[in-house]
Amino acid sequence: MNTQLHKPLQEQISASYGAPCRADGTEPLALTRVTCCICEVEDAQPLAVGEDFEYRTSPDTFLAVQCRGCGLVYLNPRPAPSELDRIYPPDYHAFEFSAERYGFVYKVRRKLEAKRLLSCCKGLGKTARIVDVGCGDGFHLRLLRDYGNPSWQLEGVEPSRLAVNAGLDQGLKIHQGIVQDLVRNLELPAASYDLAFMIATIEHVDDPVAVLAAVRSLLRPGGRVVIVTDNTQTLDFRLFHTRHWGGYHFPRHWNLFNPKNLRLLAQKTDMQVENLTTIVSPVNWVYSIRNLLVDWNAPQWLINQFSLQSTLSLGVFTLFDMLHQWMGHGALMRSTLRRPD
Ligand SMILES: [Zn+2]
Repeated sequence: MNTQLHKPLQEQISASYGAPCRADGTEPLALTRVTCCICEVEDAQPLAVGEDFEYRTSPDTFLAVQCRGCGLVYLNPRPAPSELDRIYPPDYHAFEFSAERYGFVYKVRRKLEAKRLLSCCKGLGKTARIVDVGCGDGFHLRLLRDYGNPSWQLEGVEPSRLAVNAGLDQGLKIHQGIVQDLVRNLELPAASYDLAFMIATIEHVDDPVAVLAAVRSLLRPGGRVVIVTDNTQTLDFRLFHTRHWGGYHFPRHWNLFNPKNLRLLAQKTDMQVENLTTIVSPVNWVYSIRNLLVDWNAPQWLINQFSLQSTLSLGVFTLFDMLHQWMGHGALMRSTLRRPD
């Protein structure tokens, strides 16, 4: 891990941090300061300065820091809860990941993800109850419905009304809200689920400890939660971490983990780590290069070669990341946590 803050970054920070508004007429976001969710203190070093390269939802410049205690990378300050509707625009990809919009990539990803999901469902009974927390438009729920056991009870949890509606249109059962509220108001029954998924969710939530504790309370004793999230112990992070790393997804990824601090998160919520491995993904590679090209004012046709619709770059970086996976540093982490009996 690079612990030295080198000079160009320091200059970038002093030049941009604290003066977030560009003269384009858009209001800056309301921001809020936070502490490390694991150590519960604010003892961190600046790591990156970036912008919303992908959606340009605000003119702000954001600062990612790294906790000196546990190595967690987090956005600080970060958008206030009141800004969620703004930082997740209506065309946000997780709200509508459809065949119409993503074509070939959609088909390949469906096959690959179905295989991965089912590998997490081994040993589940016929009447298993499964919840996908942060299910977006229900992409993974549809896969479980189409490829899994037809008698499984499938439910999703998702705060975005837009995404929930897209899922409901597909005949899925999705609870709108955040999981802590749905546990509190008993919309989700405690100790009733055999398996929970949190796929690309934990990095988006304001309080990973509270969310995981809520998910734990939903699980039957011995039940499991599968967490998939970006991995900061990777080559793509090392190469691009001062600004362009795709995993920052400025300003929507608030907490970014490595294997060590993901284990600490499990410990904090009294969950047993059954396994923790990395898996292949081209997305952070593709977006790191895209963000770099955007910053360099590269021609649009070139930038367009690096997106979730570009099969060539996704294919090339899948192969590339397979090499890293082989060395134990795939772009994503996947961990199965078990609620003790
Ligand atoms: Zn920490």
